[in-house]
Amino acid sequence: MIIGIDDTDSVDGMCTTYLTAVLIDQIKELGTIKGMPRLIRLNPNIKYKTRGNAALSLEIEANPGLEQNIMDTAISLVEEMADVDCDNTNPGVVFLQDRNEQDEKLRNALEIFMWRAMQDVLTIGDARTLIDRFELAHKGFKNGRGLIGALAACGAIACGLPDHTYEMVAYRLPKNFGTLRSIDHDSVFRADEVTYPGTWDTVDIANNIVVFAPHSPDPVLFGIRGDNIHAIRQAFDLIESETPGRAILYMTNQGTDLHLLDEHISNLSEERSYCVTGKVHDTPRTIEGGHTFFTFGIDDVESEVDGAVEVGEVGEGTCTIECAAFEPTKGFRLVVRQLMPGDRVRVYGSVQNDTMNLEKIDIIELSSHEIAENPICPSCGKHMKSAGRSQGYRCKRCGTADSIINLTSVDRTIKPGIYEVPPSARRHISMPLVRSGDKRAFPSR
Ligand code: ATP
Repeated sequence: MIIGIDDTDSVDGMCTTYLTAVLIDQIKELGTIKGMPRLIRLNPNIKYKTRGNAALSLEIEANPGLEQNIMDTAISLVEEMADVDCDNTNPGVVFLQDRNEQDEKLRNALEIFMWRAMQDVLTIGDARTLIDRFELAHKGFKNGRGLIGALAACGAIACGLPDHTYEMVAYRLPKNFGTLRSIDHDSVFRADEVTYPGTWDTVDIANNIVVFAPHSPDPVLFGIRGDNIHAIRQAFDLIESETPGRAILYMTNQGTDLHLLDEHISNLSEERSYCVTGKVHDTPRTIEGGHTFFTFGIDDVESEVDGAVEVGEVGEGTCTIECAAFEPTKGFRLVVRQLMPGDRVRVYGSVQNDTMNLEKIDIIELSSHEIAENPICPSCGKHMKSAGRSQGYRCKRCGTADSIINLTSVDRTIKPGIYEVPPSARRHISMPLVRSGDKRAFPSR
């Protein structure tokens, strides 16, 4: 049996991963837990999310006759632990039983649903239609929005994911819930130094921030992410902190970029995330607050697509969108500020309010630019001055004259390659460049 759970938490406390950890403790005597539980990050732009749009699932081989018992335990636990008093908490639990898992049609439908949950915007009706069509055991609380994430998380086990990483989440002892976390800052940096790149996004070295621990009142003490389970365990052993309670190793889609759609600029929609290739159209601008913007797009839309231009149309044959590197992206903005019109780039990020919030940028090719300078005097080596309109240039001291201005090419201060926001500004589902293995990548640490 696969159990999917979502939307049990609020900003005031609780966390669906913790509820799952407690559930595992309660049902492990009723069957055999198979593999690791899954921590799945869904579309990061969904407005209903509490924090990181996570959904959870686990698989258990039920002891004979105990399936109903397991389902009742899961539902009771959600009733007991979910923060249902919060308006925005609408828990959902879905059970895929053995007989469901054999059904190929269900697997296909679930797989499509899971991808849409990561990349698109679904309705509660979409979830209920799938549940009704395959008569899936489930329980939706209040408006049942959590059924969306619960189904998608079931899909991650039933259908698999094309890429995955791991996270070991350590939870606090209940007596410490709501108090300030006690974690030794230096030990976290040491653990990162020893285990990177097997682990990543534990700290943000450039900004001297520990990023692996939340600041909210939820039960999580910290989470160590990475590709290498051995390195994750080693980091766990090196970290000095208050005594953790449970620690659970999850298989996740964090750090995979599975939210990104490879799309043409004319087909972008709000609340989705994309990678798009085009050109920088203007010189990046920085506004009050330190946010940096530039216009990105393609010229000559008609020759590239037959469809309508939907996003930020400026003038005939040009299709553009504003790209933003907001203040929290810190040093990434320095990269963006060095772009110049005509640079060929691939941008990665999500579209919100007609703006693409950058997560990464691939600078494919730098454009060449020249600046015009007055001619240099052959005698004294200084720049000549204009001798008046249409009268060329003259060196007043030496009396030399010339009519041709010099064109000097601008030295570009940035190298082509792939750049990313720092760990402190990374979305859970975004792939850190250290995972890409790409020689053109400049991982941010
Ligand atoms: P936390 O990170 O603290 O666990 P959260 O950020 O995961 O919280 P939830 O409380 O789970 O937020 O709320 C997200 C809600 O949005 C859930 O009800 C989930 O089912 C729903 N949801 C997730 N993905 C989509 C999607 N692609 N389209 C529509 N609804 C979605």
